Amino acid sequence: METINTSAAIEIIPVESGNEFLEVRQSAIHGTGGYARKDIPSSTRIIEYVGERIDKIESAKRCEAENAYIFTIDDDCDLDGNVAWNPAKFINHSCAPNCEAEWDEGRIYINALRDLKQGEELTFNYGFDLEDYLDNVCQCRTPACVGFMVAAEHFEQVRTQSTLPKPSSKLVSAEKLIA
Ligand SMILES: [Zn+2]
Repeated sequence: METINTSAAIEIIPVESGNEFLEVRQSAIHGTGGYARKDIPSSTRIIEYVGERIDKIESAKRCEAENAYIFTIDDDCDLDGNVAWNPAKFINHSCAPNCEAEWDEGRIYINALRDLKQGEELTFNYGFDLEDYLDNVCQCRTPACVGFMVAAEHFEQVRTQSTLPKPSSKLVSAEKLIA
């Protein structure tokens, strides 16, 4: 007799399950992180960065509320990845990342920048601009670390700010130094 398993269709997969390539667990960098579940060849599309599609007004509000998971999609729409169904949100920022975010036809994917070994922590550059960058201290601890989460195009400018505190300094002191 044939039975149809209807429960499979409505099964809720915990976000911590990651996917075929991505394993979610305690990070060596910050909080929860994303790790390579197995060896991953360079250029592999590891996971889609999914979320809630929001308009620019709503996006500005959420950015002001320090939501760090928002991607630009196009002139009308952004993507807020801070949702329960987006395992990719656990992937940390790094100044020397091993993955990158790719925009493709209005969707965002996290791709491997090089061959990755099973168990490596996955990272990408969040691509933040310099506005309020002092609010986002980087803890990636790579030799290339500039101390703050900014897009690579801003590294030189951040490095040459002589008044900047050391990366380990607390944000409070950073603001005082700039004031
Ligand atoms: Zn860093």
